[in-house]
Amino acid sequence: MSYVTSVLETLKAKNPNEPEFHQAATEILTSLEPVVARHPEYEAAALLERFTEPERVILFRVPWVDDGGKVHVNKGYRVQFNSAIGPYKGGLRFHPSVNLSIIKFLGLEQILKNSLTGLPIGGGKGGSDFDPKGKSEGEIMRFCQSFMTELCRHIGQDTDVPAGDIGVGGREIGYLFGQYKRIRDEHVGVLTGRGLSYGGSLVRTEATGYGLVYMVEEALDCRGDSLAGKTVIISGSGNVAIYACEKAQALGAKVVAMYDSNGYIYDKAGIRLDVIKEIKEKERARIRVYADRVAGSEYHEGCSGIWAIPCDVALPCATQNEVSEASAKLLVKNGVKVVGEGANMPTTLEGISVFQKAGVVFLPAKAANAGGVATSALEMAQSSGRLFWTFEEVDRKLKGIMVNIYHNMDNAAKAYGREGDYVAGANIAGFEKVAAAMMAQGIV
Ligand code: NDP
Repeated sequence: MSYVTSVLETLKAKNPNEPEFHQAATEILTSLEPVVARHPEYEAAALLERFTEPERVILFRVPWVDDGGKVHVNKGYRVQFNSAIGPYKGGLRFHPSVNLSIIKFLGLEQILKNSLTGLPIGGGKGGSDFDPKGKSEGEIMRFCQSFMTELCRHIGQDTDVPAGDIGVGGREIGYLFGQYKRIRDEHVGVLTGRGLSYGGSLVRTEATGYGLVYMVEEALDCRGDSLAGKTVIISGSGNVAIYACEKAQALGAKVVAMYDSNGYIYDKAGIRLDVIKEIKEKERARIRVYADRVAGSEYHEGCSGIWAIPCDVALPCATQNEVSEASAKLLVKNGVKVVGEGANMPTTLEGISVFQKAGVVFLPAKAANAGGVATSALEMAQSSGRLFWTFEEVDRKLKGIMVNIYHNMDNAAKAYGREGDYVAGANIAGFEKVAAAMMAQGIV
């Protein structure tokens, strides 16, 4: 049995009931086979066992009181996965589906994603099974304050710097930061994605979506093509989806469909992003109202039908495992040329295999959505230096980072005889730096 297979078997046995964590570990470790074959010293140092075991897992109680005076208790999580190359860094997710398996898969992915940015940040992730939907402003604020009251003792600007993720946007980051500052009496860059009036960075809001599209454009450019005139489908209608849509449209693409967790809209004339922003950013309403407001558009209940719409480029930007094997086959049948993952692990392992066998350019999440965390690291740099860079400056750095990541993963894939396999390329390029740092730091 190979070293990788034996590590995976032990991991599954020691961490039962964690399917998402198994899925992410399988995808990553199997593509590292050729790397560990070149480095027998890794097995002697139990490097993969240490790489897949979080340095620290923090689980805590989050009690809060609703507007009617009823007491609720949620679970809080922070997985401090790997600090070999820098302080733990990764978002907080508030969604009822959150559990340890999901936070661990996200944390493991985050280690390699952060390494790929070329910036000095380790990997972590956290969140809660709290559901922000339907809650009042006061309830959201009290929940965030309770969450931070516990979390604040475990994080710090040089230790662990959380950010947003599903269900945690600018509003929640504001409440979390306010409570951290109140308890610790420190106005420091302990969270990223902060508002511009209290230490945030320009472009952080747009960064993940813009970064995704910069990478897609680079991949097309290297093939003598571009996004101009392409038909694009984007799943989700949250932070990543909205700014992916904005940049794709700016580069001349036509985005024809988006969804939320209830259903999708199809607008063959091209999505009106101003209407989406009004519905999602201002009103926090359901996407179905788009069809009432824009003549000629359609709303369909349920999400998976979106993948049956013919497109050149598909950008899954909502959540894990939203693109199944069957959906991948439909996309291929309808001629998709590029799939760029804005969400984390949105494509199942079977779906990835369908795209790769069909020769679709498949840009995996840990590379394609790294623009968010990269810009968070730029926010950290500005906080430390008490600086404030212009929009153009941050945007230029973001674009440079995304183009660089694309070529690093492309080169890593070529170096290991896997040309065009960006799953392997991203995993290998991200892992090499973390592995070198871990080996240099001894058995810790
Ligand atoms: P948001 O909360 O802003 O938006 C999430 C979107 O996905 C919403 O439209 C939501 O619909 C939809 N969604 C969530 N769960 C499901 C589901 N089970 N089925 C269908 N749709 C669903 O989150 P973000 O845009 O920030 O994050 C989206 C993805 O991008 C996540 O995978 C996240 O980990 C990843 N990511 C985010 C980064 C960031 O900077 N924000 C950075 C890197 C990755 P509804 O409103 O109905 O719930």
